[in-house]
Amino acid sequence: MPTLVAEPYSLSLTPVLGSSGVKGKPVISLPPEGDAIFGYIQSVIHDKPETESPFMVLDLGVIMDLMDKWRTKLPTVQPFYAVKCNPNPSLLGTLAAIGSSFDCASKSEIEAVLSLGVSPDRIVYANPCKSESHIKYAASVGVNVTTFDSEYEVEKIRKWHPECELLLRIKPPEDGAARCALGRKYGALPEEIPVLLQAARDAGLKVAGVSFHIGSGDADSRAYHGAIAAAKEVFEMASQFGMPKMHVLDIGGGFTSGPSFDAAAMHVSEALESSFGNEEGITVIGEPGRYFAETAFTFATKVIGKRVRGELREYWINDGLYGSFNCIMFDFATVTCRPLVTCDEDMVPMCRDSKTFSSTVFGPTCDSLDTVLRNTQLPELHVNDWLVFPNMGAYTTAAGSSFNGFSTSAINTYLAYSTPIA
Ligand SMILES: *Cc1c(COP(=O)(O)O)cnc(C)c1O
Repeated sequence: MPTLVAEPYSLSLTPVLGSSGVKGKPVISLPPEGDAIFGYIQSVIHDKPETESPFMVLDLGVIMDLMDKWRTKLPTVQPFYAVKCNPNPSLLGTLAAIGSSFDCASKSEIEAVLSLGVSPDRIVYANPCKSESHIKYAASVGVNVTTFDSEYEVEKIRKWHPECELLLRIKPPEDGAARCALGRKYGALPEEIPVLLQAARDAGLKVAGVSFHIGSGDADSRAYHGAIAAAKEVFEMASQFGMPKMHVLDIGGGFTSGPSFDAAAMHVSEALESSFGNEEGITVIGEPGRYFAETAFTFATKVIGKRVRGELREYWINDGLYGSFNCIMFDFATVTCRPLVTCDEDMVPMCRDSKTFSSTVFGPTCDSLDTVLRNTQLPELHVNDWLVFPNMGAYTTAAGSSFNGFSTSAINTYLAYSTPIA
């Protein structure tokens, strides 16, 4: 009986528009030009000049396009979208409709995915250290695959969810030197692996396979080679211990869209071929987060304040490091922006003097740390102009706070669809 079920791959728009999280919301169809989202943001502001709150635009076409690339380049790897990266309901609903499964790390993430109508065998509970109540909840709803990297976790799972199959999370031999190295926190060391396998066996639990994560954000995808080879050794060790044959390999996340995805897909495919090419009946899954979320969201913020100090221009916008731009702190992200200046009645971009100034862009809270951009060249902006930030979907709104009364939960998301599907 397969524990994780592969969904058929579909890229038709109808199920996306009918999916939970999308259904009932307007979806604006956009031409496929690169500038279409910017133009759409302009029209939103133009149609409602009183708009003040920052807002996101989610391009469903980008998600579908990325799924198409994934299935083309990594046809044997089932994507389990990592919900923590961005739990936006329209993103989750779209991914569910086009055949993604899900990586959840907590009770509420599991609830969010189940509420889309996704069956529990499309969920991997990929948090190696879970609280007991969350384990009990997973058992009650039939989420039956989870990760572990310590004996204490084995004990909790034995007690509260003995039917659950385990994936042993290992620390890859070299991590991908990513912005967010996860190996500092998770993953069994080589010398711990035999002990953990035996602990699971002694507890009567089934170890179905191995998982790892090479690190998130600009990861060097050559690290998949060592990680996949190390996983293979664990498969062999389990056989030597007389344990049932492992059948799940979870290669985690660490993917970024764009040209680096092609390289990553090549390294993964080569490594799978060299370590697992002769094995049959192996289910390979991945847990992409950033790959799907990052480029699908564009963020529009309003200039709410200004100060001039000589040649320096200082602006305040209505979101910052305690909100969606927490990615600058926690994800070590650098953001870029494009000004959308208003010229009287007309929304003609760059209708002002093309001279630029060294500018600072502050967030709205009263903490001086709350600085989004420094020494960036911008044209002269006025209060009520807008700054548009592309690629704002990964580890942004998901981790925002409501510090100082500025809450990310109030951020509206408009839906657009820009890529024509044949
Ligand atoms: C965060 C996380 C992911 C997603 O990582 P990306 O680099 O965003 O793809 C996948 N798996 C686990 C276990 C994670 O903690």
